[in-house]
Amino acid sequence: MHQRIPRSLRFRFFAALGGLLLCAIAALASISAWLIFPALQAEERATVKRELDRVERSFELDQQQLHSQVRDWAHWDDTYRFIQGEYPRYADVNFSQEMFEDMRYQLMAFFTASGDVHFLAGINPVTGDYQTCRAPIDDCSWMTPWVTNMQTAIAENRTDQSSIYPDRPPAIMASSPILRTDKSGTAVGWLFKTRSLDDDWLAFMEVYTGLPITLNLSKETISISDVFSFSGNTVFAERYFPTSSSLSSVSLGVGIELNRTSYLTSLTTFRYVLLWTAGLMIMVIALVLLLLEKIVLKPLRLLTQFTQQVGIDGADAHGLTKRNDEIGLLARTFQEQFACQQQLNAELLKLSTHDALTGLPNRRLYDQRLETAFSDAVSTPSELAVMMLDIDHFKLYNDHYGHQQGDECLQQVAGAFNSIATKFNFLIARTGGEEFSAILPGASPDSAKGIGEQLTRVIDQLQLPHATSPVKPYVTVSVGIATLKDSKSPSPSAIMSTADQALYLAKAAGRHQVVLFTPPKASNTLSAQNTPL
Ligand code: GH3
Ligand code: MG
Ligand code: MG
Repeated sequence: MHQRIPRSLRFRFFAALGGLLLCAIAALASISAWLIFPALQAEERATVKRELDRVERSFELDQQQLHSQVRDWAHWDDTYRFIQGEYPRYADVNFSQEMFEDMRYQLMAFFTASGDVHFLAGINPVTGDYQTCRAPIDDCSWMTPWVTNMQTAIAENRTDQSSIYPDRPPAIMASSPILRTDKSGTAVGWLFKTRSLDDDWLAFMEVYTGLPITLNLSKETISISDVFSFSGNTVFAERYFPTSSSLSSVSLGVGIELNRTSYLTSLTTFRYVLLWTAGLMIMVIALVLLLLEKIVLKPLRLLTQFTQQVGIDGADAHGLTKRNDEIGLLARTFQEQFACQQQLNAELLKLSTHDALTGLPNRRLYDQRLETAFSDAVSTPSELAVMMLDIDHFKLYNDHYGHQQGDECLQQVAGAFNSIATKFNFLIARTGGEEFSAILPGASPDSAKGIGEQLTRVIDQLQLPHATSPVKPYVTVSVGIATLKDSKSPSPSAIMSTADQALYLAKAAGRHQVVLFTPPKASNTLSAQNTPL
């Protein structure tokens, strides 16, 4: 009788631990999405920014170097004299194509104090030839835009600085006033140098910084300094620098392309950690459920089965009562309680079916047994006899010996009756004050009568003194017997009433005798076979 429990502990544990697992995974996912992944991305941006800072420092250093080289040349007595026309061989002595290439100069321009061109030297960007001129005309016409920029700078008094120019290709331009070597006196002119930010410069910077660098001119004013764009395994980052454009505000973007290896490795590692953590949590919860099932739930189910089957053979097939744990304790306690309850039930049953004074079955049990015996006899069919026994003149006994002794007498009579009932295996009950009844299944009239006689004889043998009895000086009984076939109508009460009639006849015939009821044959009067003792 195994009952199914709709919301069993297993289901509850499963639901609770499953819920816990989902919460933990959700927490893990939230922490990853809101804390860890953004932190990894921020770290990557910080790394890229550091690289941009490095590139910026290199770029600034290049500008500063150009500026200090210009100052070096401008604050020199030879240059001072040259601009004043006192040293005509100055250019031939100091300038050459190799020097321009080594120093990565595009153009060197000398201006007089009035801002006129004094001397120009540079490398033609188209032909790559070294050229010197007195004015930006003819072969030197490519210098015109630069000369214009320089003269604008002189006019605006921007003559001791380094700036970026967005012309194609973009370039850096540095300038300085021309002074004596000891820097005394006033400026006698200006010296300008430009360095083109061409492919050679990019190659130089790549060697210098170790990073592939690109340049990008933007016509718009870029408000933010850094721009990032991520694609797959690479990140492209640009930092914008303001330029000195005469036309409009143009920014120069210096870009670098970096590998995202470190970020992607961290990401992959972290994803593995996440997966392993989630997997580990699932495994732990599955293990907890398994252990719960093995250690708690299964023994509990067995205990439930045990409580439902206790008292039946094989109820403790799993040896629950021998366990040395709480389940074993529960099983043993339940078994003891069950035994105790069974004993109490048996006692209660006995109390409800037996007579307290004599210990014989009472009328209730007698009626139940008679009902069963009667239906067995009718259905088989077989013989059935019932017997009513009554102590003779028991009122007189009570009157003479007292009620207490009357009770003792009843106990002795009952004991004697019971010994015969046990011997012949039939039921005898105390069905009234000093009245007893017996059921004799399968007994023929003769054998019933024989048993009736044995019962009266056993009482005679007791020789219980009865001084006031008119029948004998000791306690005697009268017996009335009826059989199923002789009773008027076939029912338990009818057969008992027939036995009562037989008892009445026995009493009427002088008591101390057994009367077997026999139906009247010809006449309508009652007849009986009686045995006076
Ligand atoms: P008879 O031979 O006709 O049966 O006469 P009797 O006196 O035995 O019958 P009666 O019915 O007149 O009296 C029965 C008596 O049995 C009355 C009562 O005092 C006594 N009696 C009934 N139950 C008990 C009992 O439990 N204890 C005692 N001591 N006496 C009982
Ligand atoms: Mg009576
Ligand atoms: Mg009596």
